[in-house]
Parts: sequence; structure tokens; C-alpha cells
Amino acid sequence: MASPAYATDKSKTNAPDPEQRLKKIYDQVSRKTGMPWQEVAAIDKYERALSRAHRKTRPLREGAAVGVFISEARWAGELNPDPQDDQPVSIRFFGGVGRDGSGDGIADRGSDVDLLYTVASRVKEHGSGPDDFAIGLWEYYHNTRSVQRILQFVKILEAFGRQDLTRHAFPLPIGSNYSYRSTWGDSRGWGGYRIHEGTDIFAGYGVPVRSTTYGIVELKGWNRYGGWRIGIRDLDNLYHYYAHLQGFEKNLKPGDVVQPGQVIGWVGSSGYGRPGTSGKFPPHLHYGVYRDRGLVEWAFDPYPMLRKWEREERKALRVTR
Ligand SMILES: [Zn+2]
Repeated sequence: MASPAYATDKSKTNAPDPEQRLKKIYDQVSRKTGMPWQEVAAIDKYERALSRAHRKTRPLREGAAVGVFISEARWAGELNPDPQDDQPVSIRFFGGVGRDGSGDGIADRGSDVDLLYTVASRVKEHGSGPDDFAIGLWEYYHNTRSVQRILQFVKILEAFGRQDLTRHAFPLPIGSNYSYRSTWGDSRGWGGYRIHEGTDIFAGYGVPVRSTTYGIVELKGWNRYGGWRIGIRDLDNLYHYYAHLQGFEKNLKPGDVVQPGQVIGWVGSSGYGRPGTSGKFPPHLHYGVYRDRGLVEWAFDPYPMLRKWEREERKALRVTR
């Protein structure tokens, strides 16, 4: 007889946590290629972000754990008469990239492990030296942005030692005085854009501005419109842009890794002139988010995410108090 407790445990085993399932796949591909799991995970996260940005041309199969997309023609080989070929020998003969990573003798385009192993092992072919990972990435993607992104992801994953870095924070401390509304496309928004791409959060001078995500500082400095601004890249390949700051957290520099809630600067009114210009509009944080589509980046409305993060953080604070 199964006790209720046993039944609960069993249902847990049948539906493992998606992050645990991913970690298992990363470890398996890591063992088989000899590539650190952070590099394997970084490739997968980059592939997932590309697939998310190009849903029509990079459709992922239902229930897929990894984000890797390889077209049938690329997998089996352009001239392969069987576009669904899963035999490693004939795939290789027709110049396809598909490989067997799971060890069942089949190069299965519907297998998470085979998909991720195929990319990782091709990148790894260029060797194990310090620069070989970047060279391998270049050989696979032929795109310097892809190489830069994946190397940034590796740095984030190495810093935290785990891959489930999904927590977010509201950019200003919950409980500080601020106000914001949806200003997407507002022609009168502050920031010098013809169409306002972001959300303005109004607050007093000196209120801390915090990173909303786990990420890596990509840019820091002055911009004529944005004033003192900072740009942070996250593992979903989103670029978070914080502008009009009064100043930066002193020790922060490009290439540094940050976590959600970490202070990166202070609310100000800098911008609209030479470096240091300030006070031409009321102090506020301009927060923008851009999705990397491979060659270009597109802004999207951060307002719904801000509402969500604010709600989540409020709830968490209530629980701990
Ligand atoms: Zn703005």
C-alpha cells in the first residue's frame, strides 16, 4: 500500500524540476566533451535566446529542455535524400552536423542531449587551450556577437556556480518613494528618443538604483541623451539599460558580474548635454530593455516586467518579515 507521502514523492520523480533536468543534461554533455559545464550551459542559453527571438525560423519542439535549434538540412546534410536521417555514418557522409551524444548510436534531432552535444562537440574540436573555446565558437557561428555573448554568459555562470539564475529585483528599493506608469512609445518621454523606449521611474536624487537581474556590465559611461548610464547583459540575452544616473557605484566596471538587487548607481537627472550636465528635467531612472536578435537589438516594453518584479519582491518581503 502506498502512503500519501510515497505518492507525492513519486509524482515528484516523474516530473523533475526543469532546472534539475537541464543541469543533468549540461553535466552529461560536459562529461562527454570534456568542456566545463559553464561553457555547455552558456551555449544552450545563447541558443535559447536566439530561438526565443526567432520563433518562426527556429521552432523548438514541444517539451524540449534545451534551446538549441539546428535545421533538418543542417543536421542531416544539404544533399541527404533523407532529411530526417538519424544515422551518424550517413549524416557524416552527406556533410550533416548531427551527432550522437547520448550513446544510443542514433543522432536524434529530437534529443536534448544529441542537440546540445552536437554544438558543444563541434565547438570543442578546435582544442582545449584558453583561446580555443572562442575560436570554436567563431567557427560554429561566424558571428563575433555570438562569441562575445557566450563568453559573457560563461563569466556569469562561473561567478555564481549555478545555472538557475532566474530571480529578479525591482530597480529601486521597495519601500523607497517612487512612481511610474507605462510610458512606452510616449513621444514626450525623457531620454532623447523620438519614440520613448522604456519606462521612467520618478524618484528623488540619490535613491539607489539596483540591477534587476543576474548579469554582466557591458557598458558604463556618458551618453549625450542618457547622461551617466550603465548597460547590463543577462543570461536571457536581454540588455538592461539604466540612464540619467547621478553617479555609479564606484567599484563597478565593464566585465563585472552583478546580481539582482545589487546597487549599481543612484537616481539623478544627468543628460541632455556635455558630460556632467544635470537638472534639465526632474530626476528619474530611465529603464530600457533590449532583446538581441543576432544582428540587431529591439527594445520592448519593460513595464509589465517591472510590475511583476515589484509584486514578487513585495510578497517575498512580507514572507520574511
Ligand atoms: Zn525615459
